Amino acid sequence: MTDELFDKIKSEKPLTAPDLRKILELESPEDLDRLFKAAYAVKERVTGRKVFLRGLIEVSNICKKDCYYCGIRKSSHMERFQLSLKEIVDAAMWADAHHYGSIVIQGGERDDEPFIKLIEDAVREIKEKSAGRLGITLSMGEQMPAVYRRWFDAGAHRYLLRIESSNPELYRKLHPPDHSHAARLKCLETLKAIGYQVGTGVMIGLPFQTIDDLVGDLLFFQKMDVDMIGMGPYLVSRDTPLAKEMPDFETLKAQQLKLGLKMIAAARLLLKNVNIAATTALQALDPRGREQGLLAGANVIMPNLTAVQYRSSYQLYDNKPCLDENSEQCRFCLERRVQSIGESIAWDEWGDSRHFAARKK
Ligand code: SAM
Ligand code: SF4
Repeated sequence: MTDELFDKIKSEKPLTAPDLRKILELESPEDLDRLFKAAYAVKERVTGRKVFLRGLIEVSNICKKDCYYCGIRKSSHMERFQLSLKEIVDAAMWADAHHYGSIVIQGGERDDEPFIKLIEDAVREIKEKSAGRLGITLSMGEQMPAVYRRWFDAGAHRYLLRIESSNPELYRKLHPPDHSHAARLKCLETLKAIGYQVGTGVMIGLPFQTIDDLVGDLLFFQKMDVDMIGMGPYLVSRDTPLAKEMPDFETLKAQQLKLGLKMIAAARLLLKNVNIAATTALQALDPRGREQGLLAGANVIMPNLTAVQYRSSYQLYDNKPCLDENSEQCRFCLERRVQSIGESIAWDEWGDSRHFAARKK
């Protein structure tokens, strides 16, 4: 039965929903080893044994949304921060000086003009000061088309907006009634029409989520023809409404990690030439989680560049790793980790998605 599945994977015939379901249901260590090796072989062929870096700058934990799973949701009681223009640009220039090639600017969702302008100015200044060397990805939630356009014109060229779940019913259970799945979808379409390289993703192992939901997510990525995937295991954030739906989270960590890795492998086998991130959430579940993500088919890592004094205020979930390590320490740790699995870091490369280049031909 699994031999048949692996024969199909090997032949690279298009994978169907039942195939994806079988992949996500693999359990034995031998089958998982075969799966990850097959996905790794595709990655090796498409992007080589190298890892692209995106230095992550968490610009603000102020958010107008109230997602039931997120530690920085509007209703969370915590000290709020916002980096100044200089702090954002300095963090980016650190990335440039250390040959990172690309950055991601991420934050809570806001639609106030001062914030929109801050991001616009930061993008423009980073582009100028790095003489265009740094690729810039934004991840600032849902915005009006004109805002996406302003940020694109300023020099951002990639945007990450997770759909969180492709199933509108599940989405509804994870968000307050005024958060709209349809609006999120529309944003993804707008981003694409403007010309961004577009990334999306989901949380994996959510309460109420079924294997068929995850199969649907993979097919959604394919249908949306996205360039990048940023997905990771759901991790409980203690004081959020969703936490009570997973009271036994501590006992489920190994399972969450395994499912996260299977999703990466399935995405690589299905989508082939997209960029896939080994997210921090994997590392929160296992110190070697990101390396395992790379070995399952991911090819991007997002090391945190946020200044240590702000890191504890950007805890999307409990036990977020590296809260007390500065960027310099993160860099050394990361390089060692990447080398430990026989890969190298693609210093100074933007590392654009091959899928985007193919889509534009
Ligand atoms: N506010 C923007 C947005 O929501 O698109 C960008 C920042 S938001 C913190 C980035 C991602 O964090 C979300 O898309 C969500 O999937 C993830 N996230 C939030 N809470 C999480 C949790 N408890 N476990 C895992 N991922 C989480
Ligand atoms: Fe805000 Fe994003 Fe967290 Fe939702 S996931 S509460 S939009 S920061």
